[in-house]
Amino acid sequence: MRTPSRFLIAATVGGALLAVGAIFVIDTTLESYVENHARDRLVAQARGSLSFAETRLEQTVTTLVDLAAKAGDDCSSKMIDMMRFAMFSNMPMKGMAILDEKMQPVCTPAGGNLPPISLSREFQLADKRISFSVARFRDRQERSLHLRLERPNGRSLATLIATEALLPEIEFGRDEGIKRIRLQVESGELISARPAGDEGAGLDDGRSLVVQQRSERYPMMIVAERSRRAIAVEYQDLQFIVRSCLLFVSIFALVVFWLTVRRNQEDPVAALRLAMRNGEIVPFFQPTVDTMKGGVRGAEVLARWRKPDGTLVSPAHFIPLAEQSGLIYELTNVLMKRACEEVGATYAARPHLRLGFNLFAGHFDEAKIVEDVKAVFTGSRIAFDQIVLEVTERAPLPDLDEARKVIASLQEMGVRVAIDDVGTGHGGLSYLLKLGVDIIKIDKMFIDAISTERYSQIIIETLVELARTMNMEVIAEGVETFEQVEYLRLKGINEAQGFVFAPPLPASSYLALVEAMDRPRPSVVENPLAKLAGAA
Ligand code: C2E
Ligand code: CA
Ligand code: CA
Repeated sequence: MRTPSRFLIAATVGGALLAVGAIFVIDTTLESYVENHARDRLVAQARGSLSFAETRLEQTVTTLVDLAAKAGDDCSSKMIDMMRFAMFSNMPMKGMAILDEKMQPVCTPAGGNLPPISLSREFQLADKRISFSVARFRDRQERSLHLRLERPNGRSLATLIATEALLPEIEFGRDEGIKRIRLQVESGELISARPAGDEGAGLDDGRSLVVQQRSERYPMMIVAERSRRAIAVEYQDLQFIVRSCLLFVSIFALVVFWLTVRRNQEDPVAALRLAMRNGEIVPFFQPTVDTMKGGVRGAEVLARWRKPDGTLVSPAHFIPLAEQSGLIYELTNVLMKRACEEVGATYAARPHLRLGFNLFAGHFDEAKIVEDVKAVFTGSRIAFDQIVLEVTERAPLPDLDEARKVIASLQEMGVRVAIDDVGTGHGGLSYLLKLGVDIIKIDKMFIDAISTERYSQIIIETLVELARTMNMEVIAEGVETFEQVEYLRLKGINEAQGFVFAPPLPASSYLALVEAMDRPRPSVVENPLAKLAGAA
């Protein structure tokens, strides 16, 4: 078993950090969800309690107003009876009285309880005749609400409301922890609290969730409180499930990631496929040069595998694998698209530049390559007549007739076709004669032997002669010395590529070379002389 690569270790650490980050984000989101949900529930509870208190108060106000309308304030026995009846039928009313201008009782039924001990100032209601204040019964500790309706003659009809009746009964279950609800007047004095008798000391001590709801009808509000510990207990199951799922998913993703990367490392085809999809297969560009004038004629695209750590893998290590596995079709497509993106703008400005791509024998067995070339270059910045497709002679073409048809279809579009590595392989003269290609590329083997092997020169001369007769261009490959360049010039071979000019270059270097050596040619329309000629 191989030891994990630096990439795998870095990817695992990166993946683990990402997973921790994701867990943190989701956990924080969960906590804020719990907080918001608990707050919403507390607000709903506070609203419910407030509307309960408002309804109770409303009932008493209505009773007081009805009583004043029906019986006035004359302390007659009818009035006393009616007060007694009102107290009897309205449970929260614990006392009644008619008060004079100085707020002293003029008359009161038995159990009148008035006047009480005031605990707050008086608040006026929307109906200006009515006001209330927080008070305490004279004979007991409980709080009451002193409600007073003022008559035009200065007298008042007053009642005391037992404030504990203003809040609904709430079950404070043990699971939900301490929860308090306070009904208070605007200025803060307590009217009533739940649990009963709990005056709410320590509200909002930082460990509690506290919400407030103001009444729109009366000058009072509800403050509801719930301990955060109780909230945590209530939601702990949900949090446990979500956190466990997160942990499980993260561990599962990491394991799958590990296994995938390990498998890719052990399965070279899977690794190559992944590399292509990750954009690690990149085009390098080896310039072809005009041996007579010295300018750049174009470039041959050569594949490189740029590993994540920056190392470059030569095509000899992965092209045979791509051909055997069938990945070569996708790989060729990837290279064509990427080359088009990288040099398209420069090529659009220099229509004479050519761009060569290497195909393999299988590409000429079906017309798919024709469709692929159309799909990549139609509407692109590289014209079909700038493209050269190379077919190597090293491997045999399975079906010469089919290859001939494919080549003819490519040529119909304007694409040129070259035979690569001429003289090294299976084709011999039959490829040159039958395929109808546009260019022949003389292999480095013959260029290397120019000065040492006499037969090499004869073969080159024969090829040049044949090319001339058949109207084909010649490119010499693998040119490494000035002597070789001299010889090529002498033989009229005016295009060559090789280390003497430049090795395969990354796009940026190739483009810099083109920009430096080949200023864009002005188009016919942009040429001022042509414009003048047109005008005349
Ligand atoms: P090739 O098509 O004959 O490409 C020329 C090879 O010769 C390139 O090697 C290039 O770097 C090298 N070369 C160019 N000038 C010189 C020189 O002056 N001296 C020496 N010693 N070498 C020179 P590279 O890039 O390693 O490519 C090797 C082969 O891999 C190519 O041979 C081609 O058959 C294949 N290949 C590369 N890219 C692709 C591709 O995209 N598709 C296919 N099907 N094959 C490719
Ligand atoms: Ca080639
Ligand atoms: Ca070649």
